[in-house]
Amino acid sequence: MLGIETSCDETGVAILRWEPAAPGGGLLAHALYSQIKLHADYGGVVPELASRDHVRKLLPLVREALAEAGMTPADLGGVAYTAGPGLVGALLVGAAAGRALAWALGVPAIGVHHMEGHLLAPLLEEEPPQPPFVALLVSGGHSLLVQVKAIGEYTILGDTLDDAAGEAFDKTAKMMGLPYPGGPALARLAEQGRPGAFRFSRPMTDRPGLDFSFSGLKTQVLLAWQQSDQGEQTRADIARAFEEAIVDTLVIKCRRALEAAGAQRLVIAGGVGANRRLRAELAAAGEKDGFRTYFPRLAFCTDNGAMIALAGAIRLASGQHQGEAVEVRPRWNLEDLPAA
Ligand code: ATP
Ligand code: MG
Ligand code: FE
Repeated sequence: MLGIETSCDETGVAILRWEPAAPGGGLLAHALYSQIKLHADYGGVVPELASRDHVRKLLPLVREALAEAGMTPADLGGVAYTAGPGLVGALLVGAAAGRALAWALGVPAIGVHHMEGHLLAPLLEEEPPQPPFVALLVSGGHSLLVQVKAIGEYTILGDTLDDAAGEAFDKTAKMMGLPYPGGPALARLAEQGRPGAFRFSRPMTDRPGLDFSFSGLKTQVLLAWQQSDQGEQTRADIARAFEEAIVDTLVIKCRRALEAAGAQRLVIAGGVGANRRLRAELAAAGEKDGFRTYFPRLAFCTDNGAMIALAGAIRLASGQHQGEAVEVRPRWNLEDLPAA
């Protein structure tokens, strides 16, 4: 199975030999090209530039992955590509290339939901989680708590009312003058921050419910930053307090979601899942409360082709595939997916 990811600013390609018993064991190759440098001057992703860069990089990456796997295109048995949600032009590049490749090779193609890809990424690791479980999906565009009864049977328990967790990291970093994309840089800076130097609130944890809101936190940080000496240590101190507030909030809501769903397994995925403090705090909460945590390796937290190959392989194995039209869905609710 060839997996193609082009929903935003990363071109990802992977080749997976599907083995239901050990889903991750069959990963033969993966290649990634990040457009971060291209968009850095603009402080955010420019959709038209993203599409054009996917056009430039996709086929070379497919060749690279095939070479790494020691395969030719004729060895492929299926093609999976991200069909949504994401930037329409960027999605169309992967969908058109993936659909055309499958048609030329006479193999089935399958359009994958990007967030289902993120959600299933921990299945690429040893000891993959078995449904039912609760998934925390925290990325650049989403903050979701999802009840997973079976693969494809998703109920959204909580969503963000404004910014996604990754977006809050990026915007806060930008406010404090860190270069785009600020999330990982802010997290690195937080490691030098002193505990207790600043404290921000844990939004929406004082009332029941599983939704998130991070834009007020961003405003609190902006005020603290503007009123501070804006020195290096202060920036690190604020970064630390901000990270603690986000992580605490996510941990509180995860505990509640597990209780509400009566689940003992928690899957964490999406770019913010790479955050060290979040990984450590959730693992610690799991030891205390008696739930088990499952994370993708760091490289598969952010966008990649491997998670798309995996989600596509599962859906093809259950008999689903795409028609001959090239179709993408820039907006697409996870709950609308059919069972796999
Ligand atoms: P979506 O999946 O919702 O469409 P996306 O694909 O842009 O959005 P991902 O690639 O999954 O998002 O993740 C990128 C996000 O993860 C960015 O917002 C980035 O700042 C954040 N991120 C990456 N590493 C870290 C980290 N160590 N700590 C906090 N945030 C991080
Ligand atoms: Mg990205
Ligand atoms: Fe993503």
